[in-house]
Amino acid sequence: MKKVYVLFIVAVLSPSLILAWLAARSMRDQQVLIERQRALLFQTICDRKANDLQQYLLTCQHEFSEKVSSLLPGVDAVETAKSFDDMVRKYWPLAEVGFVVTTTGQILSPRVYGRAEARDFLAQNSRFLANTQPAEVYLSPKRLSPNLEPNPSVPEMPTEVHKDTSSDGKSAFFASKDAALRKVVPQSSKNQPGELYSKATSSETEFKQLVGAESEGMLGRFFDNRLSLIVWARPVTNPNLIFGAKVNLAALTERLAPLIASVDPELKNVICLALLDDLGRPVALSHRGFSSNWKRPFAATEVGELLPHWETAVYLIDPTTSTRAARTLTLILSLVILTLVLAIAVGSWLLARDISRRLTLARQKTDFVSNVSHELKTPLTSIRMFAELLADGRVTAESKRKAYLEVITKEAARLTRMVDEVLDFARAERKERRYRREELDLARVTADTLAEYREGLEAAGLAVKVDTESVRVKGDPDALAQVLLNLLSNAEKYSARGGEVMVRSRKDNSSRPAAVWEVLDRGPGVPVGCEEKIFEQFYRADDALSSGVRGAGLGLTVARQIVRGHNGELTYAAREGGGSCFTVRLPLSDEHEK
Ligand code: ADP
Repeated sequence: MKKVYVLFIVAVLSPSLILAWLAARSMRDQQVLIERQRALLFQTICDRKANDLQQYLLTCQHEFSEKVSSLLPGVDAVETAKSFDDMVRKYWPLAEVGFVVTTTGQILSPRVYGRAEARDFLAQNSRFLANTQPAEVYLSPKRLSPNLEPNPSVPEMPTEVHKDTSSDGKSAFFASKDAALRKVVPQSSKNQPGELYSKATSSETEFKQLVGAESEGMLGRFFDNRLSLIVWARPVTNPNLIFGAKVNLAALTERLAPLIASVDPELKNVICLALLDDLGRPVALSHRGFSSNWKRPFAATEVGELLPHWETAVYLIDPTTSTRAARTLTLILSLVILTLVLAIAVGSWLLARDISRRLTLARQKTDFVSNVSHELKTPLTSIRMFAELLADGRVTAESKRKAYLEVITKEAARLTRMVDEVLDFARAERKERRYRREELDLARVTADTLAEYREGLEAAGLAVKVDTESVRVKGDPDALAQVLLNLLSNAEKYSARGGEVMVRSRKDNSSRPAAVWEVLDRGPGVPVGCEEKIFEQFYRADDALSSGVRGAGLGLTVARQIVRGHNGELTYAAREGGGSCFTVRLPLSDEHEK
C-alpha cells in the first residue's frame, strides 16, 4: 500500500507542484513583459508626437520663409526690411518681433526706439545678430530637415566654424557637455533623475556661423530660464539680408494643441497626452481638466532642438487601473493554477486510495476463498467421517449413534448457515433482497431466536443474559433474527469459555428516538482502529486461519446490510469493563409512537 502512495507522490504530486511553480514563474514573467510592452507603447506614442511636433515646426519655418519671399517681389528690399517688424506681425501671426540683419551684421529692423518687445529683443539679441558676441543657442540640426539643402546660389556667410569636441574625441557640432538635465522624470525610465540629460543640446556659436550657407532655420535661446525661439530665412532674391522673427510661443502652442489633442480612440480613456514647456508645465493637454504630478509622467520624450526642453508626455488617467487589472489577473491565474494542482492532487489521491482499496479487497477475497474452503471442509470432514462410521454398522450403541447423528445435523446446519450467509451477501450486494414490513416486538424476536440458539451458547460455556423491554419496530422477522444470530454467533466465536453474552432491547427517548437492540459480550473486543473496518466485506480483524476462529468476514457485513435495509444502523463500541457492544438502532414503528 505504501508503494502506491510513494508512487503517487513521485509520479503525480511532485511533477504537478513543479509544473505549478513553473506556471507561476511564467505568469510573473508574462506580467513583466506586458508592463514593458505597455511602457514601450506609451513611449512610442510620445516619440511619435514629438516627431509630429518637430515636423510641424519645420512647416512653420517654411511658412515663414515663403511669407518673407512673398513680401519682397517688386518692392525695395531695404525699405521693406526697415518696416519688417510691423509687416511680419501683420502677415505672419506667429511673429512677436520681426528683425532683419545683413550678412555683415547690420541690424535693419526693429528700430531701437520701437515698441517695448522690440527693445527687449534687441537688448537680448543685437550683439549676437551683429556677430560681435557668440551666444549659447539650441538649434535645429540638419538631420531634422533633410529637404533643406543649402541653396547653391546663395553666398556663404564668412564663418570661422566653431566645433566642439565631445568626450570620445569625435567632432560634434552640437556638444552635449553642457546639456541640461531634463525637467521631468518618466516613470518608465530606469535611470536615476541625476542621469537624465537632455537630448536638446546647446552650442556656443556666432549667428553668422550657424546661418552659414543655409537658406532658413530656427534656433532657441534661453533668457532668464525662458525659451526664446527665433526663425530666420534668407530670400534667394536678397541673399545678403536675413529676415527673422521671434516666435510668439503662446500662439505657437495654440497651433500645436490640436496635434496633442489627437489620441488614439482606444487609448482616449487610458492616457492623457501633454505638451510640457521648458519649465515642465503643461501648455496643451489631450484631456481637458486633467491634473497630475506633471514632473512624473509615465513616459516622456523631448521634442528636440527645435523646441528645446519641451516634452511630450503621457500620463495614466487612472494609474491604479493597471495595478488593479494586473492584481486581478494574477489572482485569477493563481486560483486557476491552484485549482488545477488541487484537482490533480485530489484526483490522484482518490485514485491512489481506490487502488489501495482494490488491493485490500483483492487480498481479502483471496483470504475469503481460503477461509470459506476451510469452513466448508471442516464440517464436511466431520459429516463424512460420522456418516461412514454409521454406514459401516460398526457403531452399535444407540447413545453413540444418536450423538454421531447430532454432530452430523449440527455440522450440516453450520454449512447451511454459511452458504446462506454467502448467498444473502451476494443478494444484498445485487440489491435483490426485499424485506417484509411487519409490526414486530424486538423482545419477541430476541426470545424466539434465543429459544433456538441458547442451548448452543451455553454449551460453548457462555452465560446468556437477557434484559429486554418491549420495543415495536416494523420489519422482517427472519432478517432481524438473522442479525441477532450473526451477533450471537460472533459473541460465541470470539469469547473464551466462561464468558457471558447479554441481549438488551429498549426504547431510546432522547431527541432522536429509536428502538435500541444490543448484544454485549466479555470477549477480547475489536482492536482499536478496526471499529468500522469490521463491517467491510471479507474483513477480519485477526488472521482467521492463524487465530483459529472460523469465519468468512461476512457476518457483520450482512447484519449491517439488513439493518440499513430497515433504515437503521449497526455500530460497534467497546464495552465498559472489557468486551464488545454491538448496537442496532431501528426506527420505532408508527403504532409505537401513537
Ligand atoms: P467473521 O466472524 O466471519 O470473521 P464478521 O463479519 O462476523 O466475520 O466479523 C468480522 C470481524 O470482526 C471478525 O473477524 C472479528 O475480528 C471481529 N469481531 C466480530 N464480532 C466480534 C466480537 N464479538 N468480539 C471480537 N471481535 C469481533
